[in-house]
Amino acid sequence: MPKINLLPKNVSELIAAGEVVERPASVIKELVENSIDAGATVITVEINRGGITYIRVTDNGCGIAFEDVPTAFLRHATSKITKGTDLDAIGTLGFRGEALAAVSSVARVEMLTSTADSQFGAHYKIEGGEEVLYEESGCPQGTTIIIRDIFYNTPARMKFLKKDISEANACAAVIDRIALSHPEIAFKFIRDGKQTLSTTGDKSVKGVVYSVLGREFSSSLIEVESANLGVTVNGLTCKPVSCRPTRNNQFTFLNGRLVRSGTVVAAVEQAYKNSAMVGKFPGFVLYINVPFEMVDVNVHPAKTEVRFSDEKLVFDSVYSAIKNAINKGDTRPEIKVSTPVFNPFQSVTTAQYKQAVIKEKTIAEEVYSKNVSLHNTLRDEATPDFINKYSVVLPDGSESKPIEHKAVEKCVDILPEKEEISVDIICEDREPIVVIGQVFDTYIVAQMGESVYMIDKHAAHERILFNSLKKNSEISVQPLLTPLTVSLSAEEYDALICNLTLLENSGFEVEDFGNSTVLVRAIPSFLTSEDVSSVISEIAENIFKTGLVSTTREDDLFHTIACKAAIKAGSKTSLIEMQELTEKVLYSKEIMYCPHGRPVAFEIKKRELEKQFGRIQ
Ligand code: ADP
Ligand code: MG
Repeated sequence: MPKINLLPKNVSELIAAGEVVERPASVIKELVENSIDAGATVITVEINRGGITYIRVTDNGCGIAFEDVPTAFLRHATSKITKGTDLDAIGTLGFRGEALAAVSSVARVEMLTSTADSQFGAHYKIEGGEEVLYEESGCPQGTTIIIRDIFYNTPARMKFLKKDISEANACAAVIDRIALSHPEIAFKFIRDGKQTLSTTGDKSVKGVVYSVLGREFSSSLIEVESANLGVTVNGLTCKPVSCRPTRNNQFTFLNGRLVRSGTVVAAVEQAYKNSAMVGKFPGFVLYINVPFEMVDVNVHPAKTEVRFSDEKLVFDSVYSAIKNAINKGDTRPEIKVSTPVFNPFQSVTTAQYKQAVIKEKTIAEEVYSKNVSLHNTLRDEATPDFINKYSVVLPDGSESKPIEHKAVEKCVDILPEKEEISVDIICEDREPIVVIGQVFDTYIVAQMGESVYMIDKHAAHERILFNSLKKNSEISVQPLLTPLTVSLSAEEYDALICNLTLLENSGFEVEDFGNSTVLVRAIPSFLTSEDVSSVISEIAENIFKTGLVSTTREDDLFHTIACKAAIKAGSKTSLIEMQELTEKVLYSKEIMYCPHGRPVAFEIKKRELEKQFGRIQ
């Protein structure tokens, strides 16, 4: 039988290090989190060669007292918890006391640190777990830590590192996320001598989102602000028209820490239901705060997947925060006619032309490299479970995996019983509307105030009908003089018969007539008797295909009815009808998207036209 040995300290240290220190990006995450825990308001990170040869993190935090410095590098040395029960209410990012020990066992580490009340600071060096320098030194309050030659003593690990550029991109993505999570801290990131990120630390979420995620994303955001039974939800979420085919821009910060939570994603996406197109996902940066004891952060070793003791409360709070934000803050998409790069009436020199082309190319390259960087980190971090939840767009535009909705589906049992359609949000300043006419027999053109609107008449009417079906008290029922029979296939008939109440709630009166036939006695008054047979068969087919009765089932049913009953694109519509429709759309903030998420109307501002025609600058 093999003899059991206790591993020497340096060997067990190395094994432990493997869990915390995987690559330069994971080291940076630990070091920056230490700076944040130390109360720093300015943090600068500098790397060379992807962080493999050099990482420096400088902060203006509380510093470490001279005599405590060597202890900080011991395993399980932490100033953040002292007893087991503290684990139930962790308010700091670190608490395991492992990072400094782990990093110093696989790299050359140098630290300069000083506290506010001491005369002098400490200059400390530790290489491969061995102290090589410990002396007094004059330095400003705060801590500077330098990590050189990561894995210099573990060549096997070194081999797993990727090219410098991939490692550097991973570091950048880590800092991006940390910067997003702390708008109150000024971050700088310097990569091979070049500053690539700078946030102001002025607490503005908009500002930090702009610095990190760029102009395009920032230009289409709605503010979120809500508090519900101890759960506060703040931040920014995108307008429904700006939803994208991937979930790349979804950031949830829980009590200051970036987390993944199927519950939060499901709640946000549920709030976009019927406003965003199917297969498109909202981008958001949400700061959620809940009492510490409500969260279990210890579930996953990387501390990113969270569970809540009351998932339903979190779901409901996020759902209503987002829903309210969309209702309040969404505006109609605006048509901006793109300004021509060159004025055709003004000749340009070849040099000017070249200059302009180079500029456009640089912008395109920057956007590309940003995408590659995000992609790489996502891929590198991707556990199989993560891949299941999030699809990743590869730089070539393809998707790494089809989007699966496991995380989101898991939460179906806590979905609200019924989607709330809020009371009509009527615009207070009702200005007169002038309908100019329609183009292509499809789009109504109308003027209100300082804007011209183009309205998709089918989409608008469909949404209006859908909403009134949802508030079913508003449906008026029209009895048919002669009841109509509709014949169905055996399966469709069975499916429909089991769901007659659903039909009743939508303004139908349908009876089982036997022999795969139903008898329709009454219909919602906005349908005509010609529509009846096709609507009933479509509903029956849908119920049969998708089975199960649920909230979604009811929505699908309403979609079908609304779509059938709505004015068709390409049909003639009278001026009176157009006027009525336009008023409904423009006077209510609820009629923004058709039930499939297509926008109902676009706005062209007078100013925009004036700019285009060169009347104003
Ligand atoms: P943990 O963060 O889990 O406590 P670490 O190994 O990361 O463990 O750090 C050990 C201790 O060193 C911390 O608890 C803290 O007291 C101290 N420390 C580390 N980095 C800093 C810093 N930048 N500023 C002040 N104190 C620090
Ligand atoms: Mg730490």
